[in-house]
Amino acid sequence: MLNLVKKLYDLDNNFSKGATQMVYQELKNRVAVVTGGSKGIGTAIATRFGQEGMKVVINYHSDQAGAEAAAQAVKDAGGEAAIVQADISDEAGAQKLLQTALDNFGDLDVWVNNAGMENQVATKDMTLENWQRVLNVNLTGVFLGTKVALNYFTSHDKPGNIINMSSVHEQIPWPTFAHYAASKGGVKLFTQTVAMEYAKQKIRVNAIGPGAINTPINAKKFADPEQLKTTTDMVPMGRIGEPSEVGAAAAWLASDESSYVTGITLFVDGGMTLYPSFQGGRG
Ligand code: NAD
Repeated sequence: MLNLVKKLYDLDNNFSKGATQMVYQELKNRVAVVTGGSKGIGTAIATRFGQEGMKVVINYHSDQAGAEAAAQAVKDAGGEAAIVQADISDEAGAQKLLQTALDNFGDLDVWVNNAGMENQVATKDMTLENWQRVLNVNLTGVFLGTKVALNYFTSHDKPGNIINMSSVHEQIPWPTFAHYAASKGGVKLFTQTVAMEYAKQKIRVNAIGPGAINTPINAKKFADPEQLKTTTDMVPMGRIGEPSEVGAAAAWLASDESSYVTGITLFVDGGMTLYPSFQGGRG
């Protein structure tokens, strides 16, 4: 019995570490842009794309060392990488990312709008500057990146793949993070709308909705055992997620295995969106 428990634990642990070799052969040599790739989920997606043999442009805002480390991880995993500094809430920034892909790898196949930010503030105290900063990065940045990718795909008459990083908070309200929740709710309907608009051109547009993932954005919170427990209690699977588990979802959405999937949000959340307060038959 103990052996079985250990086996199940190891299995769970291995899943959360992610695949270590190529899964989707067709992704080899495809070119991807990943915004906000210098840490956290962005680095994990880039690294997973590297495992699939892809050529990855890693965008960073200010952390050049993080972007260089991410590029090395992509190369170590078997892919190719280039890094580029740009603010993705700026139209010229999004264009710079495409140019880097073309200069280094000559094409574009997959665009991941991953960059995002959050900060906690009561809505009555939220400054307009604060509101605009979060909306500019989390929603306008997604629009600008999507627009650049759409123009490339349509002008080259080629199929394309766009993946937008949403959150469980496109669905779950989050008091004191109203700007963040509004931005992710916006990402959801933006994704659905653009998916419908470009479906006939064979451009697939999907979102990923992570739950509580072990990245720098959450480092302080998860370092405190009490706060960590508060979070894991909200997750039916009883643990926080690893960035590689979001990377695995991105690889599947980028691959041809998801060829009939467009306009969805793929939640990667250990069940957080399943109304966990009803666990055990409560309610
Ligand atoms: P993170 O803070 O570790 O990384 C965010 C990245 O976005 C950083 O590299 C940062 O430099 C970049 N960025 C921010 N503003 C930018 C700008 N103007 N231009 C370019 N890059 C910019 O966070 P993470 O946890 O890896 O989050 C990645 C995405 O996943 C975000 O969109 C976030 O909202 C979403 N998300 C994360 C979680 C989680 O639990 N970690 C949960 C749900 C959704």
